[in-house]
Amino acid sequence: MRLHFEPLACLACGLCETVCSLQRDGVLTPMSSSVILHSEDKADYFGLVLKRASKGLVFVRPEGVTSDQPASDASGPGAKPILLREPCNLCDGDPKCAKICPTGCIAVED
Ligand code: SF4
Ligand code: SF4
Repeated sequence: MRLHFEPLACLACGLCETVCSLQRDGVLTPMSSSVILHSEDKADYFGLVLKRASKGLVFVRPEGVTSDQPASDASGPGAKPILLREPCNLCDGDPKCAKICPTGCIAVED
């Protein structure tokens, strides 16, 4: 099982990162989420970053989906550096971000 992304379907609603922290820590905050919404209001630009346990980061941008290893000094989007966040564990087999995403931008793939 893995997460599949359709970048152009994202509304930047933030529900995915909020539910991720809720299932992980029982609090509604994007501070500890494994999926991070990155937005630049002035440029009207946004995308997602997913931290995986292996295979590094997944970048979900309007231009497409790419993956990369985080740099050792990566601060990344959001208030908490990517390297300090817990990686995605697929919610132990029941990915909540895919369930709550209203547009199907995040879906589950076998
Ligand atoms: S829940 Fe879906 S639409 Fe909302 S920010 Fe996350 S990926 Fe985008
Ligand atoms: S599958 Fe679960 S742990 Fe992984 S990003 Fe989505 S909500 Fe977070």
